[in-house]
Amino acid sequence: MSCIFCMIVDGTIPSKKAYEDDEILAFHDINPQAPVHILVIPKVHIPSVDGITYENSSVVARIFEKIPAIADAAGLTNGYRVISNCGSDTCQSVPHLHFHILGGRTLSEKMA
Ligand code: AMP
Repeated sequence: MSCIFCMIVDGTIPSKKAYEDDEILAFHDINPQAPVHILVIPKVHIPSVDGITYENSSVVARIFEKIPAIADAAGLTNGYRVISNCGSDTCQSVPHLHFHILGGRTLSEKMA
């Protein structure tokens, strides 16, 4: 298996988990870009937003259903940003769908 996030899901690569259930996993980013930087991923391998389909989109809904509780548990009571990079123009570096939760300070007004 070559996908590093699939290896985090199966435990081959360790992670600092923030939330886990049968469908999704949230863990702290290894190179945080804000005081709180958590990645939320589906356990099933979907390469990016481009890979979301009618058949697999329920896990994306599940992720967004859980994000508020994950953010709250991380102390992000003043707000947070959710980002998903998709493709080379966005510098997506891991080809396994993930949503960044960023917060813990006032973030830049710019998103790009
Ligand atoms: P992206 O550039 O949007 O594909 O984001 C990938 C994120 O994965 C980056 O913020 C990396 O710091 C993070 N990352 C890569 N490897 C690991 C790892 N083993 N554990 C936690 N985060 C990781």
